[in-house]
Amino acid sequence: SVNIYYENDTNPKLLADKRICVLGYGSQGNAHSRNLADSGLNVVVGLREGSKTFDKVKSQGLEPVEITAAIKSADIICFLLPDTAQPAVYKQYVEPNIKPGAAMLFAHGFNLHYGQIIPKPENDVIMVAPKGPGKLVRDLYEQGQGVPCLCAVAQDASGQAKDLALAYAWGIGGARAGVIETTFEEETETDLFGEQAVLCGGLSALMKAGFETLVEAGYAPEMAYFECIHETKLIIDLIYQGGLKKMRHFISETAKYGDITRGPRVVPPEAKQEMRRILDEIQDGRFAREWVLENQANLPVYHALLRKDEKHQMEQVGAQLRGMMKWLGE
Ligand code: NDP
Ligand code: MG
Ligand code: MG
Repeated sequence: SVNIYYENDTNPKLLADKRICVLGYGSQGNAHSRNLADSGLNVVVGLREGSKTFDKVKSQGLEPVEITAAIKSADIICFLLPDTAQPAVYKQYVEPNIKPGAAMLFAHGFNLHYGQIIPKPENDVIMVAPKGPGKLVRDLYEQGQGVPCLCAVAQDASGQAKDLALAYAWGIGGARAGVIETTFEEETETDLFGEQAVLCGGLSALMKAGFETLVEAGYAPEMAYFECIHETKLIIDLIYQGGLKKMRHFISETAKYGDITRGPRVVPPEAKQEMRRILDEIQDGRFAREWVLENQANLPVYHALLRKDEKHQMEQVGAQLRGMMKWLGE
């Protein structure tokens, strides 16, 4: 079973005399740096020269510092930049300027696990990954709560790497909810698999296939949209709150019977075999190589496939119907 740590298991004093440099001020960077500062820690936000974000950082009461200077003085360097930007930022700014005893912190393991960033042996390499978007990390912190986090150690040069990760998780509020210990390998592979097979890839393919089946059979696209896309939110919210049990408590008896008898036919054993192949490609690095090369080639497959989905009837009808439901919000 996994180790889970809470505030009492952390030693915030470890961070008392440390200077934390958060690289990036997007979803995670914004939330981490504000929470760390409100926890009384010494934090600066490292931004590239000419970044339009300097003013925003100042207006939110934090100190923006040009990236090279920020790295030179940092004891902990947090990579809260897009994963695709991190290897170049490491090569250009971090590698030549990082202090020998400094730690590097990640919120996702891709670049470390697949060798896109090769740290020096004298630096700690740790992960603190909130299991939620930055906005939630910030909002819950302000309410005295926190988002559960994962923590991991890839390199323990100081002998204190794990305690450092736990102290950081305390600083962003994650230890209030619980910090689950994992490895860079496990976090990276399960994250990629989840988004590919279920959350993003699996779900959007399932919705499109259901929508197309109804429309091809002559039903109104508007009906297909409501039945196969719009209503998924109600179902997901129930599962999120109380599992399949709560969802099945709220749907009709007819829906429930259709669910348990037909669902397994939509995701038959062959689908699981394909999931297994997708997982193999993640585990043996084929997916990572494909994605790194795709980026180097300026994203031709990425753009072509996204463009195709933008034109899908489900998206057109959806935009129109959401116009009738302004109360949905942005
Ligand atoms: P964002 O895309 O929100 O990061 C944007 C920030 O990165 C901006 O401040 C931008 O600078 C800066 N940036 C972008 N490119 C560069 C560059 N080439 N050089 C310097 N700065 C750059 O990142 P996220 O917060 O989404 O993700 C950060 C990390 O957290 C990733 O590893 C991700 O996997 C992980 N993570 C993300 C989650 C999420 O909810 N988004 C959840 C859990 C983990 P500027 O302001 O100048 O434009
Ligand atoms: Mg994920
Ligand atoms: Mg991911």
